[in-house]
Amino acid sequence: MPFSKLGLSKPILQAITEQGYETPTPIQAKAIPIICKGKDIIAAAQTGTGKTASFVLPILQNLQDAPEVRAKRIRALILTPTRELAIQVEENVQAYSKHLSLTSLAMYGGVDDEPQKAALIAGVDILVATPGRLLDMYTQRAIHFDEVEVLVLDEADRMLDMGFIADINKVVEKLPEKRQNLLFSATISKQVRFLAKTILENPSEITI
Ligand code: AMP
Repeated sequence: MPFSKLGLSKPILQAITEQGYETPTPIQAKAIPIICKGKDIIAAAQTGTGKTASFVLPILQNLQDAPEVRAKRIRALILTPTRELAIQVEENVQAYSKHLSLTSLAMYGGVDDEPQKAALIAGVDILVATPGRLLDMYTQRAIHFDEVEVLVLDEADRMLDMGFIADINKVVEKLPEKRQNLLFSATISKQVRFLAKTILENPSEITI
C-alpha cells in the first residue's frame, strides 16, 4: 500500500517523499490508519522497523487537522528512555513536519534547562522528553499538560528496565483524562502489559 492511501495530508506526503521513503514499512501500514482514527494502540516493534514514523506521521496529521490551536501548550507528549532517543525522535518530527506550522522540542536532563524553558515559553506543540527532566520542569511550573491530546511511550520496555515506572505514572496522572495513548515496545513483557493496562484504553494490538 502506498503512503498516499494512508490518509495523510499533502504537506506530510511531500516531507515523506523528500526523506526518500517510497513505501510504508509494515508497522507504518498497520499503525498509521488506526492512530489517525484516534484509537489507543500497543505495538511490538523494534528499532529499525520504521516505528518512529509510524506514530509521528499520524500525530502530525491529527494535530494539523485540529480546528483550534491554543498557543503555548504541549499537544503531543512523547516519552523516551534516553536523551539520544529523544533527540533522534525530535529530529524525525522536524523532518516530517517541515511543511507544517507545528513546533517541537527535545527535552532531557544533564544539560542546562534554561534554553529548554525559553523554547517552552516560545511555544511547543510536540514535546519529546525523558521522564526525569519532564517532571523537573513540571515541578518548576515551566510546563503545562492541560492541552495534551496524545501520549506516546516509546521503548516502554527500556523505560521500565531503567526504573522510570514511578516517573511515568506521575506524569500520566497529571495529563488530561481524555487523550489518545500509544505504547511502543520491542518486547511485550508482563510488566509492559501491566503498564499498558493502567494507561491505555481499549487498545488495538499491533505486531509485525
Ligand atoms: P526507526 O525504526 O523509527 O528507528 O527507523 C529506522 C530507519 O528507517 C530510520 O532511519 C528512518 O528514517 C527509516 N525509515 C522509516 N520509514 C521508512 C520508510 N517507509 N522507507 C524507508 N526508510 C524508512
